[in-house]
Formats: sequence, structure tokens, C-alpha cells
Amino acid sequence: MNKTEKLKLVQIELNDLYGETKCFLNYNKDYELLFAIMLSAQTTDKSVNNVTSILFEKYKSLEEFSKADINELITYLMPLGLAKNKAKHLLKTANILHNDFNDIIPKNREELMNLPGVGYKTATVFLAELYNYPSIPVDTHIKRVISKLNIFPKVNDPTKISQNLDKYYKENNHINFHRQLILFGRNICTARNPKCNICPFSKNLCKQKN
Ligand code: SF4
Repeated sequence: MNKTEKLKLVQIELNDLYGETKCFLNYNKDYELLFAIMLSAQTTDKSVNNVTSILFEKYKSLEEFSKADINELITYLMPLGLAKNKAKHLLKTANILHNDFNDIIPKNREELMNLPGVGYKTATVFLAELYNYPSIPVDTHIKRVISKLNIFPKVNDPTKISQNLDKYYKENNHINFHRQLILFGRNICTARNPKCNICPFSKNLCKQKN
């Protein structure tokens, strides 16, 4: 099997396991999704959803976010860790989007990556979730899962893994595949004690098992 065929096999198995999935983060507005993704660094989606359910009620627009008191913002973000940095980035990004972009979020990855606190993964998740942008962002779960499967030579850089996936994934369901890989990493190919006995790749693609 070539790389594209292997990815297709992974897609088929994950479709069987998880089918259609939904965004793990709660949001009603485009900037809320962007902020939720920014806040999700090194914490769980559940924690982010708990915090944003209060945060997005308190600040109801980019303008309100842009005028937020930094210390108040830090207090809201405390449960997520890295609160000072996250608050600083949110405030700066809200100001730029409100004052320079008239509240319109760029739909271009490079432009998004110019915003404070927005890296390759954040920009890609945002575009793929909202606009079906054909790219597969890579988080810590996907990085681990891909490293177990015999598809690509071992690479550590998540951006490079994402680019490899984008190059060889020829199905048309990038964001769903991204979410399915995360679910597989959370539930089966876990960092500790992976459930290899129920894994569909234990007899074919897994490097450790073959
Ligand atoms: S067999 Fe185990 S280690 Fe290999 S991909 Fe499946 S769950 Fe992960």
C-alpha cells in the first residue's frame, strides 16, 4: 500500500469507529471559535468549554473583548493554565481584529498566523472547522497516533506531520478525519496503556505490533 492508500484505510476504520463528528469546542461566533482554539493550548476541551461558557457571556463582542481589563481576563482564564499569556494574546488579537479588521476574521492562514497567539495549528483548525479548509491540523494525540502507524518516516514537528497528511490524504473530509484521529488518540491509542486489543490497526499498520 502507498501512503494515500494507507490513509484511506485509516479513514475507513475511523469512519466505522466514529462516523461523523462535531467540533469539540463550543462557540456561536467565528471569533469565539478562534479564541476557544487559542485557549485550548495545554488543557482539555472540556475545561475550555467550561471557561468560555462564562467568558462569552461576559464579553459579547470583539469590541467588548478589546476593552477587557487584563487582570479580570486573567482571573477568568486561570483554570486553563498559562492564563497571563492567554489573556495577553486574547486582548491583543481582539484589538487587532476590532480596530484593524473591522471585526472580520481573515480567511487566510498566513494572515491569521500574524495574530498574537495564533500559530499554524490554531489557524488551520479555525479554517478547517469553519470553512472546510482542506488541511489536517495536528495536535498531541494525532502526533502520537501517526507516529505509531507505518505511513510516514518519523517526524517530530507537528507542522511537518500536518503537511505530510495534507499531501497524501485524498479524501474530502479533512476536519472530520482530524477529529476522528483525536478521538482515536484519546480513547484507544492512548499515551499510557493503549487498548491495542481493540485497535483496528494492530494487525496491519501499527509499527509496534507488526
Ligand atoms: S495497536 Fe496499539 S499502539 Fe498500535 S496504533 Fe493501535 S492502539 Fe496504538
